[in-house]
Amino acid sequence: MKPKPLGPIPAGYVAKDGQLSIAGMTARELVEQGGATPLFVYSREHLTKRVADLRAAMPERLTINYAIKANPFAELLEHMATLVDGFDIASSGELTIAQMAGLDPATISFAGPGKRDDELEAALRAGVTLNLESENEARRALAIGERIGAIPRMAIRVNPDFELRGSGMKMGGGAKPFGVDQERVPALAKEIIAAGAEWRGLHIFTGSQALSADAIIEAQANVLDLADQLATEIGEPLPKLNMGGGLGIPYFHGDEPIDITAIGAALEERFADLPANLADTDLCIELGRYLVGEAGVYLTEIVDRKVSHGVTYLITDGGLHHQLAASGNFGTVVRRNYPSAIATRFDSEPAEEVNIVGCLCTPLDRLADKAHLPKAEVGDLVVVFCAGAYGATASPSDFLGQGAAREILV
Ligand SMILES: *Cc1c(COP(=O)(O)O)cnc(C)c1O
Repeated sequence: MKPKPLGPIPAGYVAKDGQLSIAGMTARELVEQGGATPLFVYSREHLTKRVADLRAAMPERLTINYAIKANPFAELLEHMATLVDGFDIASSGELTIAQMAGLDPATISFAGPGKRDDELEAALRAGVTLNLESENEARRALAIGERIGAIPRMAIRVNPDFELRGSGMKMGGGAKPFGVDQERVPALAKEIIAAGAEWRGLHIFTGSQALSADAIIEAQANVLDLADQLATEIGEPLPKLNMGGGLGIPYFHGDEPIDITAIGAALEERFADLPANLADTDLCIELGRYLVGEAGVYLTEIVDRKVSHGVTYLITDGGLHHQLAASGNFGTVVRRNYPSAIATRFDSEPAEEVNIVGCLCTPLDRLADKAHLPKAEVGDLVVVFCAGAYGATASPSDFLGQGAAREILV
C-alpha cells in the first residue's frame, strides 16, 4: 500500500519540546488551557499577520471585509474587528452574532438567498446594507421599510454571466439561486432608487477557493467592467462595489499558496485608470477562508489504536462532526488528505502508515487516509490544520449526540 500524501502544513507552525506549538504553548498546554479535546485553537498572531500581509499587497484604496460565516467564534470576531474594514453576514443569526461582538452596522452587508421577512426587518432596524438577491426580496424589504419607518440601505447582488475559473465553488455564470441576472439589474436598481431606498451599489461575487492569481485577476477585471456597464445603464455612479473574494488556501498535496502580490499589482493598475462611474466608488473585497483558515487548528486525542487486516487505525475523540470538510464530506468528489500531524510528536520522523478516524460509527468519519506519520499511542494528540474556516460551525456537531468542540483564541 502506497502512503497517501498529506496536504501542506501552513507556514508559521513550529515545534517546541517536540510538540506543535502555538503562541508559545505546546499542544498539551493548549489542551490544558482549552479544558479538553476536541479543541479548535485559533492564533491571534496568525490572523494579524495574514491581514497585514494582504493589505501590504493590495492597493491602499481597497477595503477588506470579513465574511463571518467562515468562523463566527466571538473572540475571533472581536479580534477581526480590529483588523478589517467591514463584515459580510448571511443570516439574522449572524446579525445577532455581529451585534453581540459590537460590530458597526454601517460596515455590515447582508447577502444570502432566502432572507425571511423577520430577517429583513431585523436588518433594516439594525441599519445594515441588504445585498438583494431578487426582485421579490427587494419589494418585500421596501414594504417592511415603509411599515417600520426605516429607509432601507440596498445594494444588488449581481449574478454575472462569467465565473471565476478554477474556483472550488462556482457562484456565478448561468442559472444560479444567487443574485439577480445581470441584464435585470439596471431596472431593479432604478426601481429601488425611485422607491426612496439608500442606494449602496453592487455586489458581484464570482466564486470561492481559487488558487490561481490569473483566474482572480481575470474575474476582478470582468467585475470592474460589468460594474461600469451596469452603472451606465442605471444612470448613476456607484457608491460602493463589493468585488467578491475567491482567494483560496492550499488544503491538499500539490496546492500552492495564491500569489497575492500579482493580484495586488493588477488591481493597482486598474485602479489607476478607473472610469468615471467608479472614480469615487468604495471598492472592497470580501474574504472568509483566506483570512482565517490557516490561523486555526483542530486538536483531537487518540483514544484507541487497533489493527484490522493489517491496517492500523488511530481512533480519535474528534471527527467529521467538527471537521466535515477534512473528512471529505463537504463538497468534494475525491477524498484527499488535509494537512495533519501527530501534534505531540511534531518533530519526529514518519515511521508507519495509519488511517486516522473519528469516533463516529460511520465509515465516512475519516480524518486522514494511509498517512505516513510518526508512531503514535493512545493519549497522543492529532492535529488537523486549515481548521480556522468552515470547521466548527460548518459541521454537524450534534450528530450521534457528540456536541460541539471547544474553541480558544490564543
Ligand atoms: C461564503 C461567502 C464568502 C466567503 O467565501 P470564502 O471562500 O470563505 O472566502 C464571501 N462572500 C459571500 C457572498 C459568500 O457567500
